Amino acid sequence: MLTVFGSVALDTTRTPFEIRERIMGGAATYASLAASFFSPVSLIGVIGNDFPNSYYKLLEKRLNLEGLVRHSNKKTFFYDSSFDYDLSHRTTNITELNVLEDFEPAVPTGYINSKYLYLANNDPDQNIQIISKFKHPELIVCDTIEFWIENKKTSVIKMIEKTHGVVINDQEARLLCNNSNLVKCGRELLSYGPKFVVIKKGEHGVLFFYDDTIIPIPGYPLESVVDPTGAGDSFAGGFMGYLIANKSKDLLNDIQLLKESILMGSIMGTFAIEAFGTDKLFETTKLDIMNRFELYKKMLSV
Ligand code: AMP
Repeated sequence: MLTVFGSVALDTTRTPFEIRERIMGGAATYASLAASFFSPVSLIGVIGNDFPNSYYKLLEKRLNLEGLVRHSNKKTFFYDSSFDYDLSHRTTNITELNVLEDFEPAVPTGYINSKYLYLANNDPDQNIQIISKFKHPELIVCDTIEFWIENKKTSVIKMIEKTHGVVINDQEARLLCNNSNLVKCGRELLSYGPKFVVIKKGEHGVLFFYDDTIIPIPGYPLESVVDPTGAGDSFAGGFMGYLIANKSKDLLNDIQLLKESILMGSIMGTFAIEAFGTDKLFETTKLDIMNRFELYKKMLSV
């Protein structure tokens, strides 16, 4: 079982072609939904009194929501962002923490023995708190986002020190490491202690850092990009879910499986961005996913 902790949100997303207001989003939402194609997922998070019941019901069908708390007198975390014409560069307009501020995350007893933990974009101090509550985690992976690097950089680094893997996008890696060169950023992130680092470069794929090895992996060429929100989170969820579902005994030393899981992460990112919000992650099937995965592997065989 995979436990995912992070934001469950209402997002307003503006592209040059369409605007959608207060749709279901959140880093943990995307990651959990993507992972749920491969593994049972238990979510830890918090929503407010404005989170529509219809969204809750959709999540309930796919995830264990015992750890999702509803706050009766605060609003759900809200994120408003705009994308440029290339649907690649994003500007954050508004971040309202609402229920996330001062949230004291609790781990339901049913989750405590969970061996796999994914910490999606969230307050790094809360993430550190959550890590300490798990008994024997075998794999802890985290992400972060500009907001936390700008506001709590020391805590972000402390959090990374406690993980086995980091999945982060290129802009965030540069900001966190204060360096424009991604290879140097990857090495610096590894020096904080994790076994591997994945730097996501949007449509250009990823850089995978593992000990002294650096592997560049190109992205899947997708024609139908609608809303890039959640690509990174869905990548991480797909990566974690596939890794857990196909694990050998020594999961962290299986570099081939880690690489394959990165490919599956990329494929889950492509599904997330084909429709607004989380819509496509509800519509798509495992068969669609596996077909695209096979095609991608064929494209990459040199
Ligand atoms: P991504 O596009 O994968 O980088 O992640 C976008 C998701 O992260 C959106 O659905 C947002 O609701 C969520 N998000 C944005 N900013 C934050 C933040 N500061 N803390 C937690 N979640 C966030």
